[in-house]
Amino acid sequence: MIIDCHGHYTTAPGAHQKFRDAQIAALKDPTAPAAKPGAISDDEIRETIEKNQLRLQKQRGSDLTLFSPRASAMGHHLGNEAISSAWTRANNDLIKRVVDLYPENFVGVCQLPQSPGVPIANSVAELERCIRELNFVGCNLNPDPSGGHWTAPPLTDRHWYPFYEKMVELDVPAMIHVSASCNPNFHATGAHYINADTTAFMQFIEGDLFRDFPPLRFIIPHGGGAVPYVRVIDIGNILFGSELVGAVRGIDPRTGHYFDDTRRYIDALSLSAAEKERIYEKNARRVFPRLDALLKVRGL
Ligand SMILES: [Zn+2]
Repeated sequence: MIIDCHGHYTTAPGAHQKFRDAQIAALKDPTAPAAKPGAISDDEIRETIEKNQLRLQKQRGSDLTLFSPRASAMGHHLGNEAISSAWTRANNDLIKRVVDLYPENFVGVCQLPQSPGVPIANSVAELERCIRELNFVGCNLNPDPSGGHWTAPPLTDRHWYPFYEKMVELDVPAMIHVSASCNPNFHATGAHYINADTTAFMQFIEGDLFRDFPPLRFIIPHGGGAVPYVRVIDIGNILFGSELVGAVRGIDPRTGHYFDDTRRYIDALSLSAAEKERIYEKNARRVFPRLDALLKVRGL
């Protein structure tokens, strides 16, 4: 079985973005009525999924994608906590609808209602709702809700502990994932994403976080950051994630393959079948115990 642990709903129906646009427009006009999520039909969801993520899943032979809201659109730095909460809820509810339409192909991972300067404890309720009520299996945690200005303390600071306590209680991991950059120094995907992955990894290395929370688990995406590794990361700590229909959507003219068609790189490695099975399936099931439980119920 091939589990792709990193996919976002980058192709959500237009009404969803319209809601976000109205939210942002209302920031400039306090007299405007509060924006409300627009109506989206199941057929619209089907169309956006079947033509994109589902088609590519089938084409590339992966079985299941851990699916979360579009990361660059989380925009935690925009507006205030109330705006972030309403947007986050709409995003997570939309992911739940995708999962309900295609339970074999997608499992939910949630966005959090983070906002700069707001205690992370305020994100606990949405995590709990998504895990317990919507049956999601993990979350995306933004180490920099300020969008490139890094005003939050390091991930090893006690500031984050109330959230980690809930992650441990619910037995869910977090993928470290920033959103858009509003700092002109950092290109969103080209610099900000990669900076954040490296930054998080180095904070974990330098801090004592895992002494306080031995069962805590994080996924560092986008190749794991530009950490000056002294050893190769061992097979037990690598998960497959392709971010299919992600930031780089084109076909590489030199190879004829889509840039996000990354399964072929793992297939080409001189690893045993058992080692590949760990990267494609077993490690993900260990890191996401709720995914494992869900698959076991299905006899997988
Ligand atoms: Zn991503």
